[in-house]
Amino acid sequence: MSQSQNPNLPPVRFYNSLTRTVEPLVPLSAGFVGIYTCGPTVYRYAHIGNLRSFLFADLLRRTLEYLGYEVKHVKNITDVGHMRDDTFDTGEDRMELAAEVEGKTPEEIARFYTDAWLEDEAAVNILPVDVYPKATEHIGEMIDLTRRLLEANLAYEVDGTIYFDVSRFPGYGKLSGQRLEQLRAGHRVEVEADKQDPEDFALWKRAGANRLMKWPSPWGDGFPGWHIECSAMSLRHLGEHVDIHTGGIDNKFPHHEDEIAQSEGALGHRVVSIWMHGEFLTLGDAKMAKSAGNIIRVTDLPAKGFEPLAFRYLALTAHYRSKLDFTEDAMHAAAAGLRRLRRAAAEADGDGSEGGSPATVDLSVEPMASHRARFADAIADDLATPAALAIAHAVASADDLSAAQRRALLLDFDRVLGLDLHLPAEETGGELPEGAAELLERRAAARAERDFATSDALRDQLAAMGVEVRDTPQGQVWTVHH
Ligand code: AMP
Ligand code: ZN
Repeated sequence: MSQSQNPNLPPVRFYNSLTRTVEPLVPLSAGFVGIYTCGPTVYRYAHIGNLRSFLFADLLRRTLEYLGYEVKHVKNITDVGHMRDDTFDTGEDRMELAAEVEGKTPEEIARFYTDAWLEDEAAVNILPVDVYPKATEHIGEMIDLTRRLLEANLAYEVDGTIYFDVSRFPGYGKLSGQRLEQLRAGHRVEVEADKQDPEDFALWKRAGANRLMKWPSPWGDGFPGWHIECSAMSLRHLGEHVDIHTGGIDNKFPHHEDEIAQSEGALGHRVVSIWMHGEFLTLGDAKMAKSAGNIIRVTDLPAKGFEPLAFRYLALTAHYRSKLDFTEDAMHAAAAGLRRLRRAAAEADGDGSEGGSPATVDLSVEPMASHRARFADAIADDLATPAALAIAHAVASADDLSAAQRRALLLDFDRVLGLDLHLPAEETGGELPEGAAELLERRAAARAERDFATSDALRDQLAAMGVEVRDTPQGQVWTVHH
């Protein structure tokens, strides 16, 4: 279908959570794909589970660009109003709670954790997107949308708070498969007295007396609900039709279900063509989550002996719709796989063909063309990264290819894989001698505190153990000399 729109672009198929089938992507305008990704709530550090979701969105965008589509990628920053579901109506805002605990203003908290998140994303080569809309900068749009929903008779006001009336939106539950009757049966009574129905959700909330983040509205001072934020920001930056909307699997309900109700309720037509959801990263089979106390940050990885890109490799070894368990063994295997690809790419440096420059290899002729076609088929088939990695490894050891051809292909695949395959393989760590991990950890801490005297002393100590340390934008990397 997409082929008929633009004969030059290969067809792409994705699993659509809404229809529960793998479907061809049919962009609204041929060759152009608008993607909205639910971004982070910036009241704490992102963990590598969060990053797995954003790596999946990055992979999607890289895949479409590799295949020749033009992409506009929008990823919002939730800097107000993401309530814990159970406490939403008691007004407990994660941003404000964090501000209180850390003794900062909500704005300071948001800026600090947004910067930290962007650095974490960069460490795993997540490409910057086109727009990072902030919720606090779109309050006007949220108020407008809320007003439209009131006018459409899909919402009602109770004392300065506006609720969406789910019973008046016939498609409610179509994404998550939840039936309103089931939701109701499962709900215990006595929720909030002012809601007509426990399933109704707040679009706009009246500000309580101690509320810091609040804005004037036609209904008095208040602040937006989390769900209306994404409807308003996607409408503003991608328009009334969005080709693909992504998020983690836990965003499906209620967040995306409520987004559908709001956007379609206000606009009167379907808005998102394909809903895509990434599965969880687990730790010992429990979902990695701040509340579970089992989080690992990407900045923790170097001290464990891994470079951040080994985590990116690990994420690629599993399909985005499968759970992935984070273990040391899996990370060692990922680091080894990464080393192997980089070694293969580096081999061409010595074969005399201009350092194996990919520019000298014509990828459009055989046998390169068919390797590329197989790689493209794998990623175009609902982002089949395990297959794509297998193809990269097959290329790495293909004896029908010269070293320069192997390098050219691997660097071409790396536009999607994002593994820095041009780096020397030595930069990828290695089995650390006894005690070195602790020294690396102390060195990372010293550098974080800008204590360069200690950091240099630790570097010398590590060098004496045969561990050579270098600092890169991705943090410290090391080579073990035996
Ligand atoms: P938050 O900042 O809490 O809104 O989360 C940001 C993104 O991370 C959301 O899309 C979540 O679905 C996703 N997420 C949270 N925990 C995990 C996990 N353990 N594995 C994968 N994605 C996750
Ligand atoms: Zn969202």
